[in-house]
Amino acid sequence: MTSLDDLPIRDDLRGMHPYGAPHLHLPVELNVNENTHPIPEDVARDIIESIARELLTVNRYPDREFTALRDALAGYLGTGLTRDNIWAANGSNEVLQQILMAFGGPGRSVLGFPPTYSMHSIIAHATGTEWIPGERDADYLISPETAVAWIERTKPDIVFFCAPNNPTGTGLGLDTIAAAYDATDGIVVVDEAYAEFMPDDEPSALTLLEGRERLIVSRTMSKAFAFAGARLGYLAADPAVTDALRLVRLPYHLSALTQAAAVAALAHAPEMLAMVDDIKEQRDRIVVELTELGYHPWPSSSNFVLFGGVDDPEALFEKLLERGIIIRNLSIPGHLRVSAGTRAETTAFLDAMRDLTPR
Ligand SMILES: *Cc1c(COP(=O)(O)O)cnc(C)c1O
Repeated sequence: MTSLDDLPIRDDLRGMHPYGAPHLHLPVELNVNENTHPIPEDVARDIIESIARELLTVNRYPDREFTALRDALAGYLGTGLTRDNIWAANGSNEVLQQILMAFGGPGRSVLGFPPTYSMHSIIAHATGTEWIPGERDADYLISPETAVAWIERTKPDIVFFCAPNNPTGTGLGLDTIAAAYDATDGIVVVDEAYAEFMPDDEPSALTLLEGRERLIVSRTMSKAFAFAGARLGYLAADPAVTDALRLVRLPYHLSALTQAAAVAALAHAPEMLAMVDDIKEQRDRIVVELTELGYHPWPSSSNFVLFGGVDDPEALFEKLLERGIIIRNLSIPGHLRVSAGTRAETTAFLDAMRDLTPR
């Protein structure tokens, strides 16, 4: 049988591992930080009607500039942004890939701060961009001084922040982002996939965009917006950045059906986001109850909780699996990560944890 090693694959891809979150279908799936609430039925009907209308002209290529969608996304973000500031693709992973294709690539480097979203380094490798793992301060924080020191030492072409950070849930001060921007001539990307779950007093990096033409804030409809299966990620930045991305995107990369679905969903933003407060409540409940059980959950500004104090993460992960509950083992010693689900799913997880925790 032929294996990957037998193929004339790029040398720099040899030995790499693909993104590998286990994809199992179980009664309680709290492993990839989805919004586990289905979308409201009236919204679903509206989306279906939009898609149906679009199907009638699907013999034609879609709007290459996805203008209606960019208008809708700018309207959703507010803060004075217009369609010229917005770019979108099939999930924010594709947005990040396009950023690296335009600003990274062979001979260039991107600095990130592990533990962080595994796709950042995977997309870096896939685009031939050198991945430089920086280090965080205690408690997974990144001070302005730490960010600047890493930038001055490693001179990256791109800096990736993830705020709130996956998998730790840690927020990031705007002072760190601003200091990093001033310390580099390169691109600074803030991955805000979980922005809608941040506390109200934690401002978004969107507020830093004015006057910073090398800053990019990426967002997604996959998490708070309950739209993971539709694949829609986007970014806000200076219009010149979107012009750069036009050089690397494939023509018509966003299907007419995707555009129609996303525009229809955005017209119902308040309804789509109605569950965010409930999810935050479940997240806070996980922190409280896991603490009572003797674990060490980290404070979270997102829709998941990383918790330490687990003697044998693999064994606990497997025992939860046996009970039809899947969470995430990210190979951080002594830790596991769980997404906040519906009230019932969260209860199922916490009940199982109570049973499985020795007293
Ligand atoms: C889930 C996640 C994404 C989202 O990816 P999509 O391609 O938009 O589904 C991006 N960044 C981080 C940090 C994530 O956790």
